[in-house]
Amino acid sequence: MKPDQKATCPSAEPKAGAVLLGVVKQNGEVNLLSQRIEIDETFIETASQGRDLGQRFRFASPCAAKGCANWSGHHCMVLDIARQLAHIEPLSQFTLPACSIRDSCRWFMQDGADACRICPKINTGFTEIETV
Ligand code: SF4
Repeated sequence: MKPDQKATCPSAEPKAGAVLLGVVKQNGEVNLLSQRIEIDETFIETASQGRDLGQRFRFASPCAAKGCANWSGHHCMVLDIARQLAHIEPLSQFTLPACSIRDSCRWFMQDGADACRICPKINTGFTEIETV
């Protein structure tokens, strides 16, 4: 990450300028996109005509840190909660998924590859983690 670059939250609201991080698959897991795609108002308006955006996509935008309810004071707590709820495959069987924000991802900065094991299990925050 560049010195002047802000950390990126990988579970953000769909707002113009946010990055389309991934698409939720039928099994509830997120297929992370390797290409960086920024969304605009047109995307939000069009995509909102279907099911709730948060159930179909994941978005990323600058981490609000202490301005966010999930901030503990020194780290993001979403991963802590997700780790307790989601079935996570052993690290030995894991390959890092392609991801467009890894160079600034808040979760990757905190937990490295372990974060990327949990990340695809999360859609619309920790209330909808797949436990399969
Ligand atoms: S946790 Fe890993 S896979 Fe998920 S957004 Fe961050 S860098 Fe990408």
